[in-house]
Amino acid sequence: MDCLFCKIAKKEIPAEIVYEDENAVAFKDIKPKAPVHFLIVPRKHIHSVDHIEAEDRCLIGDLILAAQKIAREQKINGYRIQINVGRVGGQLIDHLHLHLLSGKNEI
Ligand code: 5GP
Ligand code: ZN
Repeated sequence: MDCLFCKIAKKEIPAEIVYEDENAVAFKDIKPKAPVHFLIVPRKHIHSVDHIEAEDRCLIGDLILAAQKIAREQKINGYRIQINVGRVGGQLIDHLHLHLLSGKNEI
């Protein structure tokens, strides 16, 4: 499958990876919209929140836990988690991702 975030998760395309575990990979956004801007993606290809199935419910929790771990590791004091869904919702990359943002935000 020709998916940018699958390729980043498999390290076929470079990115500044800040965290990875069995289920998730996090990396710096190439065009940060805030002083801290990471993207957290599941290793499993899921198109968007609109495509989550019941079997994915634990995986979504894992992504939130990954955000918490990254924030603790990087000593981020307060942050926002954003998920865009669908083109009208601002989603440009069709692989589910959480934006982890801290500091003044442009989006
Ligand atoms: P979306 O609009 O789909 O919610 O967010 C996609 C994000 O992916 C954007 O903030 C954009 O800057 C980021 N992005 C797009 N292409 C790349 C890339 O090749 N590498 C990285 N690290 N981030 C990317
Ligand atoms: Zn993918």
